[in-house]
Order: sequence, then C-alpha cells, then structure tokens
Amino acid sequence: MRDRACVFPPCGATALAAEIDHTRAVTDHGLTLPDNLGPACGHDHDLKDRGWTLAQPRPGVFRWTSPTGHTYERGPRPVVDDLPAPRPPATPSSTEPPVHADDGPVWDDPPPSAPAEPPPPPARAPEEDPDPPPF
Ligand SMILES: [Zn+2]
Repeated sequence: MRDRACVFPPCGATALAAEIDHTRAVTDHGLTLPDNLGPACGHDHDLKDRGWTLAQPRPGVFRWTSPTGHTYERGPRPVVDDLPAPRPPATPSSTEPPVHADDGPVWDDPPPSAPAEPPPPPARAPEEDPDPPPF
C-alpha cells in the first residue's frame, strides 16, 4: 500500500506483481519490518546481485547506488495527486445578494386545523359472567 509499485525509480511495475525485497538482507540481519521492506519487480530485484546496492534511509524512501557510484532515490508516491488551488471566479455571477429560502411552509390561507377526535364511547358497567370458571 505504501509503495504501490516497484521501488526502482524508473520502474512502474505494480507492487502486486513484484517480489518483496528486504532492503537489508535477512542474511545480513535485516528484519522483516516495513522500514526494511519494499516491492521490487523480478528484473530490478536482481540488480542487487549485479553490483547495485539499496538503502532505505527512511521508511518508503529507497536509495539505489549503481556499480559506478551514481545514486537514484525514489520517495513515497502520493495516493492521489494534490488538488489545484481554488480560484475565485473572475467576475461574480450576480450583483444581487444571495437569497436563501425559508425552511418553513408557505401558507396562503391559515393552516388547516386538525380534525376533532370522535368522543370516547360511554362508560359501561362490567357485565356479569354467566359461566364463571370452575376454579
Ligand atoms: Zn522494477
């Protein structure tokens, strides 16, 4: 997720197809931790066997040194590019002040009143049970 691509600077191979490289080899006491790991495609992973050296001065920053001593650095890449700076419109779209609608209802007539509830049924005395339970 951090590197998203092969960490050799000009390479754009996706990290999903890359090998996970230990910047400092396990045989050289390199640990399997994020600050010692990075994806490298098969081609660029093999550069370390052909005289190139790799350092990771900070997690996600990869410094490759060629057999001739030239160094190439590749830093973390942003997940998305920065948005451009916002610009106000050259001229306002209107000279009128903005009008905001009222959130309340608009009534031309008085609001209708709620319908009256029907009156409750008249109270009745409980009826005698003609068949009381046997218990
Ligand atoms: Zn590569």
